[in-house]
Amino acid sequence: MKKLLILGSTGSIGKQTLDVIRNSPGKFKIVGLACNANVKLLEEQIKEFKPKFVCVNNQELEFKSGNTKVLYGENGLLELIRKADYDLAVLAIVGAAGLRPAIEIIHAGKSIALATKEVMVLAGKLVNEEIKKKNKELQKKGKPLIRLFPIDSEHSAIWQSLASGQHKEIEKIFLTCSGGPFRNKTTEELQGLTAEDALRHPTWNMGKRITIDSATLMNKGFEVIEAKWLFDVQTSQIEVIIHPQSILHSAVMFKDGSVIGQFSLPDMRLPIQYALSYPERFKNSFPRLSFAQMKTLTFDSPDMNKFPCLKYGLEAATTGGTLATVINAADEIAVRLFLDNKIKFPDIANIIGKTMRKHKNIQNPTLGEILKTDTWARETAMKISNDLKIK
Ligand code: MG
Repeated sequence: MKKLLILGSTGSIGKQTLDVIRNSPGKFKIVGLACNANVKLLEEQIKEFKPKFVCVNNQELEFKSGNTKVLYGENGLLELIRKADYDLAVLAIVGAAGLRPAIEIIHAGKSIALATKEVMVLAGKLVNEEIKKKNKELQKKGKPLIRLFPIDSEHSAIWQSLASGQHKEIEKIFLTCSGGPFRNKTTEELQGLTAEDALRHPTWNMGKRITIDSATLMNKGFEVIEAKWLFDVQTSQIEVIIHPQSILHSAVMFKDGSVIGQFSLPDMRLPIQYALSYPERFKNSFPRLSFAQMKTLTFDSPDMNKFPCLKYGLEAATTGGTLATVINAADEIAVRLFLDNKIKFPDIANIIGKTMRKHKNIQNPTLGEILKTDTWARETAMKISNDLKIK
């Protein structure tokens, strides 16, 4: 039985991870759960899965924990990561807050099923170096090496496709993108769209920020950066393709021209399950894809003038350094303001672009420099947005 930590257990990915575990009885044992503040749901999860530890970020909350040991705050979380006995940590903490825990899991010598894309967006290079360092040590001791298993559906698809060839045989990666709910709107129409419009028709079951990031294509920009670091390819080898039906989840073209892709219905439980079950595939009862019923699958290239956030993501993927940290932080601020109806939809890209231009990029940043840049970018984006707010 695989022993798991689930960090971010009350969020969208956390809940779907628990559903996967429920659907595979006898395969997994949950050792620890961690959440931000939703202790009502955490109480139910404790009752059902009886973990040895839980950790709650918000120190002021009380709840029924039975025989489960309770830890609090970031220090509690790091203690849980260091002390618990587990094989794999599912990292689904929202945003940049997932970075320190990721490094701690690596230092503990454990593998990660990675949902928090910010880990690779902000610190892909650093994370890869830390894994390399730790794996040298683990190899000497004859212990299992650390691996990163992507949960992001596109990256899971790329990972699965890569099984058909060797790394040196990759010609390019097709990173698919639904195009978001606003893909057919004109630049003028984009001006008047609200958070409600964006949140109404998501193809995937996911959180609010990522739904807005899908509408601006910022999410796809982040995913290019994530793919570059996860699969050790050049940005020029990654091509973003609009595919509104979300059935092909990404594909790899090898140097002989063969394209291998992964198809399925859009259901996050699938990539989650594969990250947990690898190297095996477990049988499940999730709904099945029927090509005959699909009838049409369409593909197109993205319009980067209408959706500049994708262009910014590609720029950061090519440039490297702290630029991606700046984009992520500015985006988090801008999306929150948009969700609160304080700014217009095109202002999200505006704020990100202006924050980027004020930044002095640091190549090969340390964790400290990344976190400092994150704070700087949030403050800068806030100042920029004050001039844009709807009065
Ligand atoms: Mg994705």
